[in-house]
Amino acid sequence: MDKVYDVAVIGAGPAGCMAAIQASKSGAKVVLLEKNKELGKKILLSGGGRCNFTNNTSPEEFIERFGKAGNFLRPALSVFSNQDVISFFKDKGLKSRIEKDGRVFPVSNRAGSVLDVLRRCLRQETVEIFYNFRVQRIIRDENYFCIYIKGQNILKAKKVILATGGVTYRATGSSGEGLDIAKSLRHQIVEPTAGLIPLILKENWIKKVQGIALDRVKLIFRAKNKKIASGIGGIIFTHFGISGPLALDLSGLVAAELKKQQQVSLFLDIFPDISEQEWDKKLIGLFKDRGSSRVKNILSSFLPLRMVDTLSMVFGFDTACRASQLDRLQRLAIIRAFKKIVFTVKGTLPLDEGMVTQGGIPTREINPKTMESRIIPGFYFAGEIIDCSASSGGYNIQQAFSTGFLAGRSASYG
Ligand SMILES: Cc1cc2nc3c(=O)[nH]c(=O)nc-3n(C[C@H](O)[C@H](O)[C@H](O)COP(=O)(O)OP(=O)(O)OC[C@H]3O[C@@H](n4cnc5c(N)ncnc54)[C@H](O)[C@@H]3O)c2cc1C
Repeated sequence: MDKVYDVAVIGAGPAGCMAAIQASKSGAKVVLLEKNKELGKKILLSGGGRCNFTNNTSPEEFIERFGKAGNFLRPALSVFSNQDVISFFKDKGLKSRIEKDGRVFPVSNRAGSVLDVLRRCLRQETVEIFYNFRVQRIIRDENYFCIYIKGQNILKAKKVILATGGVTYRATGSSGEGLDIAKSLRHQIVEPTAGLIPLILKENWIKKVQGIALDRVKLIFRAKNKKIASGIGGIIFTHFGISGPLALDLSGLVAAELKKQQQVSLFLDIFPDISEQEWDKKLIGLFKDRGSSRVKNILSSFLPLRMVDTLSMVFGFDTACRASQLDRLQRLAIIRAFKKIVFTVKGTLPLDEGMVTQGGIPTREINPKTMESRIIPGFYFAGEIIDCSASSGGYNIQQAFSTGFLAGRSASYG
């Protein structure tokens, strides 16, 4: 007879690794199946190679970050919270540091050190790992799940945890095969779209400011004059449009609107904490006090010179003249450039460039207390394959760890 396991975990990203560790810790005979020749390829890319593996925020803020799916995640987060994740890694010798907006990174600044801990735990828990093992089909017979690669039934398991990730950055292995497997077992799929994806803007002048990062701006996206998303935070201009934490966080809502063929406009306020009236007063004072200075020298104390030059071209104000020569209309043009830049959003980068997938297995088809399928008993889900994603900041890897932990523990019982 084929080899039989208590639990087979498919996919060795953060969700699958944590699920396998927990299932084995609870006494199950576990196999971890990974199609790549190594673990966690996506983890290595995460957080710019530094892996922002959780966030130090409150439980309520955590739930909020997942929007409509937040409540689904409540039980998983309560059994394995962000603080539990930090302690888990600390106990295994990985120190972490809290950075801006509560983002938690390893002190080593190496995503590889998160992976090293997972690898060590899998070894300690004697989880059997099969690499280059691309699961193509799963069939439920009377007693077991039969797992197939290349048309051959290779092994059997009493329980299965599907942790094959989303559909973006396919080169890392997450290419959506898990969704096909779930579909073949009668699960519905919420059509996957990219979340956390850079936006393409129509205005060509954006190329002139590429690479410039602004720490605190306000973005408002509107479609048919209705506000669809807004927020304050950091952005970076690229050669095609904008990226950076705030633009990425709002991109999912924008992408959904674009899909409905709506025209989306973006309103950028570079200085959300200073009103137009305050700017007017400030500039009048500055231009009076420093009347013999060039306008560009004064404005470059607020923005990078390249940005000032580009805005002067787009909004038609003179930066080469002396401050005392600037008239009211030119001053108002500067204020418009600071507070009211309007862009047209042309689209997003291709699906594969999304840092997270929106969509996947609908949460209503999964028991949130166990991560077990409500359609197929003994079948579990963990990680990004579930339709439950959040903004950037370490929330998505935490989701993978929490759901993986809960699925692993639940699957090893009974
Ligand atoms: C560039 C980038 C940066 C990111 N940075 C961060 C960050 O700093 N913080 C954060 O919280 N999130 C970040 N994310 C998101 C985060 O990496 C994912 O949400 C997380 O990795 C999901 O974990 P997972 O285990 O569910 O899936 P994955 O990590 O995608 O792992 C799934 C695994 O399943 C395997 N697999 C797939 N199909 C099969 C099959 N048929 N048979 C066998 N194995 C299979 C894949 O090879 C893969 O190893 C980032 C994502 C990207 C792309």
